[in-house]
Amino acid sequence: MRLSAVARAVARAVARAVVARVVVARAVATLAFGSFAFAACSSGSTEPTGTPKADTPAPGVPSPGTPQTLDAAVYPEVTFGAAPLIIIAPHGGLLVPDNIPDRNCAECVTVNDANTQDLARQIVDSFQARTGKRPSLVINLLSRRKFDANREIVEATGGYAPLEPVWTALHAAIDSARKLIGVSPGRGLVIDLHGHAHAVPRLELGYLLSASTLRLSDSTLDAQGSVAVSSIKQLAADRAGAVSSAALLRGPASLGGLIRAAGYAAVPAPDDPAPLVGESYFNGGYNTVRHGSLSGGATDAIQIECNFAGVRDTAANRGQFAGKLAAALATYLSDQYGWVP
Ligand SMILES: [Zn+2]
Repeated sequence: MRLSAVARAVARAVARAVVARVVVARAVATLAFGSFAFAACSSGSTEPTGTPKADTPAPGVPSPGTPQTLDAAVYPEVTFGAAPLIIIAPHGGLLVPDNIPDRNCAECVTVNDANTQDLARQIVDSFQARTGKRPSLVINLLSRRKFDANREIVEATGGYAPLEPVWTALHAAIDSARKLIGVSPGRGLVIDLHGHAHAVPRLELGYLLSASTLRLSDSTLDAQGSVAVSSIKQLAADRAGAVSSAALLRGPASLGGLIRAAGYAAVPAPDDPAPLVGESYFNGGYNTVRHGSLSGGATDAIQIECNFAGVRDTAANRGQFAGKLAAALATYLSDQYGWVP
């Protein structure tokens, strides 16, 4: 990894901040997202879980009966890279410590997105092998039973206050990775990686645009400038006049177009421009809102909801898909952001 001196300084500062259990007041850390309608891995929509995960001892966690303070630095696994790409795996955590209560808030989803932690690691490895630059990687190690890293703080923690520093540290790490991109090369992309179990086996790319918006014609999308109110708002501004809204969302050079060309079904994409009426579709979640450019800043965000079979079911399929997605992301960053590895 060849970081500039400035970037290395930022990375060191970030690492210290995370290790030092960054605790920020809830009121400061919580953003108001009430105006957005978004969806990611909502109830009943994740994949079969397979065999239940065995309880796994959590390193650095007090045993039951000790004062309920948790080490915020333990549960988000964070590595910073020099590529302008951040991969987040919020629902692939395997740790289920006994001293953290299960979330039981009303309508809370507690089912993991199976194998997405491993998939995220393979994407990062493949991207580095291809480009020589490693993406930043933020993994929530806790099972979704205990903590949801794609929700606002109350739902994320199930109201269990000792988890709040974990939430704060995880999002602070993503913020720091975004700042690192802001230092060099200035623009980049967050991918929030999930898994779905919808009826149609395809990758669902979420830009915070509803299915009904995506069902509009290309000319209407372009006339409305729909991408200007999406999670790739900054990219739309950068490419204004050069690439239309529809092309950015579902043209051959869109992320869906590149994924489709690599052999995987995706929506939106050139051959599947929008979910049909009645089809389930996730258009983005908390992370896509908070860490994408709709909320400001230099990084766009796209939520990728992966179907199970052929994509993340077996180690071989994960490895193959990770390689294809890493190649698509490298092309996307080169073509749309002008990134040169
Ligand atoms: Zn998910």
